[in-house]
Amino acid sequence: MNFTDMNLSPEINRAISDLGYEEATPIQAKAIPEALTGRDIIGQAQTGTGKTCAFAIPVLERINPEDKHVQALILCPTRELALQVAGEFRKLSKYMHDVKLLPVYGGQDIVKQIRSLKQGVQIVVGTPGRIMDHMRRKTIRCEHIAQVVLDEADEMLDMGFRDDIETILSQVPEDRQTMLFSATMPQPIRELAAHYQHDAENIRIAKKELTVENIEQYYHEVRRDRKDEILSRVLDVYNPELTIIFCNTKMKTQEVANELSERGYFAEGLHGDLKQNQRDAVMDNFRNGKTDILVATDVAARGIDVSGVDLVVNYDLPQDDEYYVHRIGRTGRAGKSGLAISFVTGREIYKLKEIMRYCHTKIKLKPVPSLDDVTNTRVNYVFDRLEEIMQEEDLSKMSELIEDKVNESDYTSLDVASAFLKMYLNSKMGGSSEEATDDEYDDEVSGGKVRLFINVGKKDHVKPGDILGAVAGEAKIPGKLVGEIKMYDKFTFVEVPAEYGENVLHAMKHAKIKGKKVNIEPAKKERH
Ligand code: ADP
Ligand code: MG
Repeated sequence: MNFTDMNLSPEINRAISDLGYEEATPIQAKAIPEALTGRDIIGQAQTGTGKTCAFAIPVLERINPEDKHVQALILCPTRELALQVAGEFRKLSKYMHDVKLLPVYGGQDIVKQIRSLKQGVQIVVGTPGRIMDHMRRKTIRCEHIAQVVLDEADEMLDMGFRDDIETILSQVPEDRQTMLFSATMPQPIRELAAHYQHDAENIRIAKKELTVENIEQYYHEVRRDRKDEILSRVLDVYNPELTIIFCNTKMKTQEVANELSERGYFAEGLHGDLKQNQRDAVMDNFRNGKTDILVATDVAARGIDVSGVDLVVNYDLPQDDEYYVHRIGRTGRAGKSGLAISFVTGREIYKLKEIMRYCHTKIKLKPVPSLDDVTNTRVNYVFDRLEEIMQEEDLSKMSELIEDKVNESDYTSLDVASAFLKMYLNSKMGGSSEEATDDEYDDEVSGGKVRLFINVGKKDHVKPGDILGAVAGEAKIPGKLVGEIKMYDKFTFVEVPAEYGENVLHAMKHAKIKGKKVNIEPAKKERH
């Protein structure tokens, strides 16, 4: 069943084709024809499957444009979602000039809303609290309301709107059409449906129809205390445009967002403790690219539709199997490909296997990106940029300067270019900023490496590149054999292959870093 087979009005058909929707999604194909008959609907489908259109199209088709009373109420959990849904209604009703709609939500000037309502609005999209407020003030009258939609019903209940919803439903005339859409159908929603709907058509898009095919799914095995480090490597290697990182607690989202900010990323946390205006600010920043990383809890991120998210990271595995699909569904939208990476610690592998079974999906193990991978990505990025500059900019003055340098010294232009690349990479290699914890003091690290301690750190104006240069240079080992460099204020840990450990310790005995004599020794073993 496609849009063209649904007998929709020419105005809607035209708007749909302007939106570029080629075919109806499964929930739309099933829900729209039923809803057009006026039947009550319970629609369950995963986030990102087009539920909004599934109710917006029939609601618009069933509005009487001549009647200027409020005829349809759309209840949404947050301002953000109300605006999103109102936006979709606007686009779909672009050619229906006599249909007016208004988003209403708390936090916005109620006097303004009242003024707009008085001008005649047929569709109100809003949060339950504010809609109830208008009903009390009689600025929204119920007599002519013939359609009520509960959008993202599960989230509305999670947010404690149950009483408000019941108050609203009990005041709207009973012969209305009631549609309920939700990603999940926990018991309280089924109760609500049973109580306030009549002979509802149950539409459930089974999980196997969920479109996760165009999402690549991997997991990394990581130690709990290494998650932040691995997270920044993942971000550096994949270099995504927009990323959503999921954590299980509000506190963790804030911690991870802070940690990332300290490491120089543009990240913000989104969780239920934020006030509405703070949430809006976070979402606005993410939408317009001011931040490119959102660190969110499941509930805070649900239903939010941002296109162009190319990476989802499960920093914590979801507590509920079903959430996995909701989370990764944030990427790979509208036919684009996406990437989902999950962090798995120790015994959580069993949890992951359960998720795979439950979601009928395959998540493949991938080794954690190494620092080499990170460097390679950066180098490729630099070369791409260079290519652009070489093609588009006049470099004659620069060439002259380099020619002068080459002529007056023993260096070749290749030396100069290499030094530039090194300088660039060093300036981009931020170290970790967390404090050392006791379990950092282990000398055996994965892959047959040893961890060494050096008594200089960030406060000494030393950069990871200086450490890399000193270790590789003094010990005469290739730089790529030097592993992770973790810098703290006053000291640094550096990993080298176990077989070079002694060699490096010996060679570094009389080494200086940034003109300062250093002390290097094996990192202490775990203390507990
Ligand atoms: P849900 O409410 O199920 O989470 P949305 O209604 O927010 O999903 O839709 C998700 C995205 O899919 C939106 O960007 C929407 O514009 C787009 N979309 C909806 N229907 C179609 C369709 N038939 N074809 C292509 N894209 C669609
Ligand atoms: Mg939705």
